[in-house]
Amino acid sequence: MNPGYLILHPTSQPPSDLQALLKRLSDTGLIGTPLPQPSNGFLAGPRFLQRITFLGCSPNLPLPGNSESARATCTVQLLGPYPAERMITDHNCRPPRCHGCGHSFREWRDRITQADWQVDCPECKQAAEWPELNWRQTAGAARLFIAISQVFPGEAVPTGGLLETLREGSGDWAYFYAQQPLVWPAGNNPLAGEDHPTE
Ligand SMILES: [Zn+2]
Repeated sequence: MNPGYLILHPTSQPPSDLQALLKRLSDTGLIGTPLPQPSNGFLAGPRFLQRITFLGCSPNLPLPGNSESARATCTVQLLGPYPAERMITDHNCRPPRCHGCGHSFREWRDRITQADWQVDCPECKQAAEWPELNWRQTAGAARLFIAISQVFPGEAVPTGGLLETLREGSGDWAYFYAQQPLVWPAGNNPLAGEDHPTE
């Protein structure tokens, strides 16, 4: 079973040269053997555990060569680049909150499918777009994402070295967690077919 994903994304535009990014990630050991499918999916690389820091007790990660089932192996999957910004949230995340007053947008699922992402707070009137609300690290918006499987929410963080590798050519990156990622405004699961936890 896959307990979830650590998802990284650039905070501005994606790097213009995707192949150069993949080469850097391969050279530094985050990604290893390409998967037959989906495209731009990879097994975890030989230095995966030097690029991602697991907090707390040592993880029992299903890394390549250390796995009973290929289906459960830790993978690194690129999502995008999309032609325009997309938002990914966790399927089961709690409602986002207003940064100004803490208002909880309980109806977010019904409204986030609309093309217009403007979402002014009904209580304090603070203007915002969906990605700008406080999602407590369960959502992010970008044209490109890197989803790392087999990470329980909050269980692991990218190292400074990995963030440095990602920054080359594309500016800062951020990250969040999703057990079942959904891409908005369509609301589909970009990783369907992988091993997901059942609800
Ligand atoms: Zn507010």
